Amino acid sequence: MIQNATLVWFQRDLRVKDHPALLSAAERGSPVIPVFIWQPDREGDWNLGAAGRWWLHHSLIALDRDLKKLGSRLLIRKGDSIQVLQDLIVETHADALFWNRRYEPALVALNADVKSEFRSQGVDVKSFNGSLLYEPWEIMNKQGKPFRVFTAFWKACLALPEPPSPLPAPQKIPAPSRWPRSLPVDDLELLPIIDWAGGLRDAWRPGVQGAEDRLDCFIDRALPQYSEARDWPSVAGTSFLSPHLCFGEISSRHVMHAVLAQTDSADKTVARNAWSYVRQLGWREFSYHLLFHFPFTSESPLNGRFAHFAWKNNPRHLSAWRKGKTGYPIVDAGMRELWHTGWMHNRVRMTVASFLVKDLLIPWQEGARWFWDTLADADLANNTMGWQWTAGCGADAAPY
Ligand code: FAD
Repeated sequence: MIQNATLVWFQRDLRVKDHPALLSAAERGSPVIPVFIWQPDREGDWNLGAAGRWWLHHSLIALDRDLKKLGSRLLIRKGDSIQVLQDLIVETHADALFWNRRYEPALVALNADVKSEFRSQGVDVKSFNGSLLYEPWEIMNKQGKPFRVFTAFWKACLALPEPPSPLPAPQKIPAPSRWPRSLPVDDLELLPIIDWAGGLRDAWRPGVQGAEDRLDCFIDRALPQYSEARDWPSVAGTSFLSPHLCFGEISSRHVMHAVLAQTDSADKTVARNAWSYVRQLGWREFSYHLLFHFPFTSESPLNGRFAHFAWKNNPRHLSAWRKGKTGYPIVDAGMRELWHTGWMHNRVRMTVASFLVKDLLIPWQEGARWFWDTLADADLANNTMGWQWTAGCGADAAPY
């Protein structure tokens, strides 16, 4: 007898815990086929950069390992996402397709196409919120419009019921009697040909275990002083969770609940610092809210008055900035750290971005592109908001 299967389409949710699409699929009882599709041109002008590809390679290996512990595995395919899903539906007799939603403009469009294509074929198609504390459309101002100011946005978020506790991993994932063909991860050619990734290897451990270790270490060591220490680039005072959040190896709900659990302690300082941290997760929420409601902002200023700014755009200056050779120590240190480790402290990101835009008069979009290629945590929503904010043309920004 042919048994129907459920496809779970993994994107930037490379984990098994608090994964609503995977848990719902496992609960259906029929075989579950977890699949990752590599379509390098899928995100239009914002396809994954070099540091992100390095991360993805290792994260896919880690996810496969975690799925195997639950009796399953990760299928890897390459090509047009809709075509690959179509092939798999035919091959596996899948009658359901589940995934966690994406909010970047190119992916909102793709997710909508996938939904309409397979719904029209009678497949049970469902998408879930696996990435955000609040959906971008849940938070609107009194006029029913999206927010442009963080404080008001965050106040509206906090007035809503607390985001649900993270879901457990499925206890077991039903497997098909025969697995469809899968590519080895090496076939995706995500690693650099000339190995420049030694600094990333030393600095990070992609995958859920790396993410959870970072979270535990942050809660033990840095959380009690977070609100002051986060301002000092010389101190390891932040969580270093950004690449893990970016690839969905840990969910923001998981991080939020773990941090807020510390507020039960009698120590009021811990509670204050925990809320200060959760507020930073709130900035991540705000950036997704902005990108979802103003999808043009990855390319153009939110504040249209800046569209025709008289930039100087000197290529020699841009090259010196990228290489960390401007002669300004804090800028150069930040840019070299970025090149070496794929990460930079928030205050240094603001400094180097401000230097590029306000001193060298180079368009913020150039900086955003360089960050995109070199950051392990390159995230279209956060990166766009960070650059527009620093350039003074975004939401909540100090005018130039
Ligand atoms: P923590 O202080 O531990 O914060 C916890 C989490 O909260 C972060 O992992 C992140 O998800 C979120 N967060 C913290 N600060 C911000 C912020 N200002 N905006 C949005 N979310 C925030 N962050 C990215 O994840 N990807 C990017 O591509 C990115 N590009 C940026 C570009 C510029 C020009 C600027 C100024 C900021 C950018 N940021 C980006 C935001 C921020 O610098 C990083 O999220 C933070 O430094 C990551 O380190 P952490 O995880 O230790 O942060």
